[in-house]
Amino acid sequence: MNVFVIGIGLIGGSLVLDIKNEYQNATIYGIDNSEEHLNKALALNIIDKKATYKDLDIADIVIISIPVDVSLHVIPKVLDGVHDNCLVLDVGSTKELVCKSVENHSKRRNFLAAHPIAGTEFSGPTAAIRNLYKGKTNIICEVEKTAFKLQEKALEIFSKLGMRIRYMDPKSHDKHIAYVSHLSHISSFMLGKTVIDKEKNERDIFDMAGSGFASTVRLAKSSPAMWTPIFEQNKENVIETLEEYIQNLQHFKLLLAENKFDAIYAEMENTNHIKQILNGIQEVKLQ
Ligand code: NAP
Repeated sequence: MNVFVIGIGLIGGSLVLDIKNEYQNATIYGIDNSEEHLNKALALNIIDKKATYKDLDIADIVIISIPVDVSLHVIPKVLDGVHDNCLVLDVGSTKELVCKSVENHSKRRNFLAAHPIAGTEFSGPTAAIRNLYKGKTNIICEVEKTAFKLQEKALEIFSKLGMRIRYMDPKSHDKHIAYVSHLSHISSFMLGKTVIDKEKNERDIFDMAGSGFASTVRLAKSSPAMWTPIFEQNKENVIETLEEYIQNLQHFKLLLAENKFDAIYAEMENTNHIKQILNGIQEVKLQ
């Protein structure tokens, strides 16, 4: 089985590490615009061989794991180059535009739009890790537009990697993911910025930073090259979530200014409910 991965970073690299482990007959070919990343991926045994787009005719599976703006151009080109039984899998974090970019392609049935909800704040081949997807949710969009045999092939891989599947239309995916992923990243980036700006004047501030700060700004280490096109593609949904978030921040500030500490207590107590929600999700995942 010839598995090609275009973009050997955190997501693509972690996927092929697990695929290689599950499928002894898999040969992993890597395509990346960074020669350094290709060499690193070879040295780390993430890929078996370097490849180019010209080699795609021998691919059985192509995983596209590059920034979402680049995917819009790369996916149609990949579909042009693969044989009729090849599965082309996109794992980008936005789904509406990518699904549109292939809607009229003659090989649309070879394409599956997915978004594994898994990751870390690190990037590049050195960030690739085994078992990243175990117990994680994988959202699949427009499954009915993918050939049945190729759906089965993809589902077998996802199941071997331990992923749970959720089906969603691309528009709903982009709307909901803006809340649970995109907003958290913006909030982390801007919290980091606020503290860095302050630190310019008060050099001791980071000595006081505890684990709460570290865990809240963890996402601010994420790659701008990956996140800028995500925010661009999902701009309208992200703006809507930001407006709601800013309103909540302003409301909190007002309560403080007006000494309404009972209301502040109630706000936090109501939000403590997030514990039950997240524990519920955890329990479902473990089942
Ligand atoms: P990453 O670690 O930065 O890996 C992306 C790789 O693609 C890098 O090696 C990059 O090289 C390369 N690349 C960039 N443009 C390319 C092109 N035109 N052709 C070939 N290779 C190219 O990023 P990632 O976190 O794995 O993200 C990859 C995809 O997964 C994105 O679509 C993202 O939305 C999605 N995703 C990410 C997460 C997450 O938490 N990180 C979760 C789910 C899905 P250079 O660095 O040299 O440009």
